[in-house]
Amino acid sequence: MQSASPEAVAAPQIAGVVERCHEVLAPECVITDPQQRRTYECDGLASYKVVPALVVLPETTAQVRAVVTACADAGVPFVARGSGTGLSGGALPHAEGVLIVTSKMRSILDIDLANERAVVQPGVINLDVSKAVASDGYYFAPDPSSQQVCSVGGNVAENSGGAHCLKYGFTSNHILAVDVVTPDGELVELHAGTPGYDLLGAFVGSEGTLGVVTSITVRLLRKPETVQTLLAGFPSTDEAGGAVSAIISAGVTPAAIEMMDALSIEAAEQAVQCGYPHGAGAVLVIELDGPATEVEHTFAEVERHCGDHGAFEIRVAADDHERAMIWKGRKSAFAAVGRISPAYIVQDGVIPRTSLPEVLSRIARLSADSGVRVANVFHAGDGNLHPLVLFDDSEDGAEQRAEQVSGAILDLCIEQGGSITGEHGVGADKVRYMGRMFTDEDLDTMQRVRCAFDPRGLCNPGKLFPTPRLCGEVPGPRRGVHPLTEAGLADQF
Ligand SMILES: Cc1cc2nc3c(=O)[nH]c(=O)nc-3n(C[C@H](O)[C@H](O)[C@H](O)COP(=O)(O)OP(=O)(O)OC[C@H]3O[C@@H](n4cnc5c(N)ncnc54)[C@H](O)[C@@H]3O)c2cc1C
Repeated sequence: MQSASPEAVAAPQIAGVVERCHEVLAPECVITDPQQRRTYECDGLASYKVVPALVVLPETTAQVRAVVTACADAGVPFVARGSGTGLSGGALPHAEGVLIVTSKMRSILDIDLANERAVVQPGVINLDVSKAVASDGYYFAPDPSSQQVCSVGGNVAENSGGAHCLKYGFTSNHILAVDVVTPDGELVELHAGTPGYDLLGAFVGSEGTLGVVTSITVRLLRKPETVQTLLAGFPSTDEAGGAVSAIISAGVTPAAIEMMDALSIEAAEQAVQCGYPHGAGAVLVIELDGPATEVEHTFAEVERHCGDHGAFEIRVAADDHERAMIWKGRKSAFAAVGRISPAYIVQDGVIPRTSLPEVLSRIARLSADSGVRVANVFHAGDGNLHPLVLFDDSEDGAEQRAEQVSGAILDLCIEQGGSITGEHGVGADKVRYMGRMFTDEDLDTMQRVRCAFDPRGLCNPGKLFPTPRLCGEVPGPRRGVHPLTEAGLADQF
């Protein structure tokens, strides 16, 4: 856990930035009051807390440029923040820096149905894009479970996924262009499908380290003709995992296949009374969409695979209300775990789908050996695990034990050829695991990309890469060669 007192920082550099912000922003959009700044001390990962030196709430691209230029001129670091729902500490502020919050940039600037696209400001809430075009039969496909509150800017930075990314892909598959204020205050447009290097591809998923997005052109999809949703109860995750493998190997690509184990079902039942099959050791929520005739055919196949793999109850949603009830349990799962445990870590890792049975049984063993309970909720179709590691924060050492189990699960993901994150990002939290997954050469190469955008390392410093790895001069009052470079402990790019 990190912390910084709100009174701590009043560096002369910040005073200069405050003055320049007052020239372009309304007074209430420049927040210097310590108590108000404290409101922004963390994102969805509340175990990390840092009070920013200054918070600004720009409303336009020109205002973002002015703030970033002021930071660049003063050598002050800055961090962009959307809705603050990130689960890896990506929007964790810098104690000597400026937090640029996009919650006043919530306009949908253009809807162009003929070309199936919309242009939105970065603070627009994910679900509001779909709501704006729903009556015309369109929607925005990326659907993180936080979609009622998270911003499209945050989705771009995290390359967020959701239950339906098995069929529709991640945010990167749905972004056509972005306007970015670069770390030196320039405004650039990055487009998909243009000749030359795919800079848009490099930007999406860069976790706020390459610049601040101020406008996003998103792809809109036509709503499918038919949607069919099924809930299947299995004796255990082994049978449910077998059904997932059988469905995918049969060449069926459902829009979503989500799995919950017994502990997460128990939590969801307590929180939202979703009425999942009684006594299930695991449930699968499977959704198929597309042309009616195709869905009808593949749905029968999916039902058969579930039956063949021991499903003891299969329920098919008869209408939108029943579909919403089936999804309610799954979508509430993270928060629901608060009903059965005072505290928990939401982990995010990826494994090859075929390793599901082995990895789940090893997680069960880790849990039994350590006495730390683990609830499993995941995007089973693409092997994206979300183990929820439960602990009682009033008990001495419990958090450390939970952290150990959580880290061991990530080691397991790496060992199986998977990844330390599927969709929640590296942020501040998983920086320590990057060296386990990548070689020094890999990290150097990534660092060079970052340096090309942000040679002075002012944009969201301390995220994504393990320290000490420097990119030009680090922010703050120090000038000259960094002591770590001088001591031969870090490379300067
Ligand atoms: C209950 C719950 C469920 C969730 N479910 C999912 C899920 O299913 N799938 C999933 O992928 N994630 C999920 N998340 C994680 C999170 O909601 C997503 O990562 C989301 O995209 C973050 O959006 P945000 O607006 O809250 O971003 P923030 O948390 O504010 O910021 C996230 C990152 O984006 C950067 N950023 C924000 N705005 C900009 C900008 N304009 N320009 C440049 N960088 C920017 C920040 O610096 C930070 O690094 C969940 C979170 C919660 C709390």
